[in-house]
Amino acid sequence: MRIGIVGLGLIGGSLALDLRSRGFEVYGVDLEERTCQIAIEIGAVDLASISPNFLSTADIIFICTPLDAITPTLKQLIPHLSPETIITDVGSVKTPIVQECSQLWTSFVGGHPMAGTAEQGIEAAKPDLFLGASYVLTPTETTPSIASQRVEEIAQLIGANVLMCSPEAHDQAVAWISHLPVMISASLIDACLHETDSNILQLAQQLASSGFCDTSRVGGGNPQLGVMMARDNRKALLRSLFEYRHSLNQLIEVIEKEDWERLEQILTSTQQTRTKFC
Ligand code: NAP
Repeated sequence: MRIGIVGLGLIGGSLALDLRSRGFEVYGVDLEERTCQIAIEIGAVDLASISPNFLSTADIIFICTPLDAITPTLKQLIPHLSPETIITDVGSVKTPIVQECSQLWTSFVGGHPMAGTAEQGIEAAKPDLFLGASYVLTPTETTPSIASQRVEEIAQLIGANVLMCSPEAHDQAVAWISHLPVMISASLIDACLHETDSNILQLAQQLASSGFCDTSRVGGGNPQLGVMMARDNRKALLRSLFEYRHSLNQLIEVIEKEDWERLEQILTSTQQTRTKFC
């Protein structure tokens, strides 16, 4: 089976390394000649090119470009494809992409491997990135079952655990566990910076240790990624943020009222239920 990968960065390059090591023939496409060259040198792909018609003979194509390039990439590919080709993507937001791409191509299966690192580009690609990770597929009523089955088989072959859900359910769940934490973590750092006494602020910065560092880690990440999350998953993220504001208001009220019994109930409940997430 010949697999095409468009976008040979962290995710595309890592996927290519794994698929090639499982015996697939892998063809890659990227914007840059240099990236194509590196992908060949590290053994991620058999062949690579900057031209999308290079993938005309692929059986399955993974679009691994940044989110805003996924639909334009599919449009570019379409004139070169045979109708049996299965297309999937790895974008971290699903509703807009699945809506657009499944109208353009019948055998389109939305996907999102829940694995990554803070790095980017082909240099960051590594084998076994998806081992043990969840891999969400979001087929719709019109997606041919053979298409989602094929993508599921491949995701399982690279060691991922496949979950199926609707694009909307995916986006809301990811808003809760990925996008909301980034915003909360950023607002924690921002709130500390509102301390008006510079001596106290400096002291707090000196005293900050593992608790603060754990909680603020994702708020100190790449600003462009944070903006992309908010822009592309705006509705679901806002829903989570409004709920979060409600929880915060509840905590403020309980502490203002010195209702320590209620506070302990809330903290006991969060202590017990955290294990369901992590
Ligand atoms: P990345 O490392 O920046 O890789 C993206 C690659 O796509 C780069 O090589 C880029 O080339 C290339 N590219 C951009 N536009 C293209 C186009 N029109 N045609 C062909 N190639 C193009 O990014 P990434 O982290 O792998 O993310 C890729 C996708 O994976 C995104 O949709 C993201 O939502 C999803 N994802 C990311 C993670 C994560 O943790 N990073 C996890 C799961 C899913 P240039 O660099 O030369 O522009």
